[in-house]
Amino acid sequence: MRRGRFAPTPSGLLHIGNAFTALAAWLQIRQAGGEFVLRIEDIDKPRSRPAFAELQMDDLLWLGLDWDEGPRVGGPCAPYVQSLREPLYEEALGRLRRDGLLYPCYCSRSELASIGSAPHGLSSEGAAYPGFCRSLTAEEREAKAANKTPALRFIMPTRRFPFRDALTGQPGSDGVASGDFVVKRADGMFSYQLAVTVDDAAMGITDVLRGADLLDSTPRQLALYEALGHTAPSFAHVPLLVDGDGKRLSKRDRSLTLASLREAKIAPERLLGCLAHLAGWIDEPEPATARELIPRFGPIRQAGELSMSGALSHLIA
Ligand code: GLU
Repeated sequence: MRRGRFAPTPSGLLHIGNAFTALAAWLQIRQAGGEFVLRIEDIDKPRSRPAFAELQMDDLLWLGLDWDEGPRVGGPCAPYVQSLREPLYEEALGRLRRDGLLYPCYCSRSELASIGSAPHGLSSEGAAYPGFCRSLTAEEREAKAANKTPALRFIMPTRRFPFRDALTGQPGSDGVASGDFVVKRADGMFSYQLAVTVDDAAMGITDVLRGADLLDSTPRQLALYEALGHTAPSFAHVPLLVDGDGKRLSKRDRSLTLASLREAKIAPERLLGCLAHLAGWIDEPEPATARELIPRFGPIRQAGELSMSGALSHLIA
């Protein structure tokens, strides 16, 4: 049985780019007759709000995108929630530690910024970490530990982790330049890379479909699958929607949120028709329900970025 998922971070309202990703992930699995899981990725606690999770679920149901698991009390199933799953992440960390695949990193934000590397575990963007703390001696570690709680970094193997995108058939980046990455931050937070890999494996996800902004994360997660002894799923990345100026959509731009379309009484079928047309699944941006689009799902006409021109830009004008 194929299994897919949508895994939003509840740090804001869903925008139409998120709707595009959710639609594609749902259609891929519904077309295959598989099961779909919703997972609320609230592992980054300072950025997450339970109220956003509720609103995001409401938006998904408004679009007609449902999910199959979790306790049900009358309404839709409860989603999986990462903040309730920390013992699983700790267990995975234990295994990596036992296998000698972790080391403490004492680098400060400003030290990382000076080499262009992303702050601890927040994203996969930025220059690769050059491994400063990997070669510390036991005495050096002890001296640093007296003043600072370290983050934990996973030793990224030097071999390549190539993959072929399941939707476009294109090769993705092979992770050779990824560098060692954070799996637990100094403030005790588990990183996205660890939590998402542990969860996708535990939930038996066979098909990961997500935005192209996470392309660089895929080889890191492939390395974690291998280190944790799990079979990796297939990975697909849908293009990011960009506005007329080529700018990525942001959760902060309210006019692009599903909430604002709902307030303007725009029918979900109109949005879905525009998104399906933009992807190249239907010839005209005619209104359609999510169910009606199931047989139309297929490769997306363009990789990387998709500009929201035509019917979609009229819809949000
Ligand atoms: N939680 C991530 C986000 O909202 C998505 C993670 C994933 O699909 O792997 O961007």
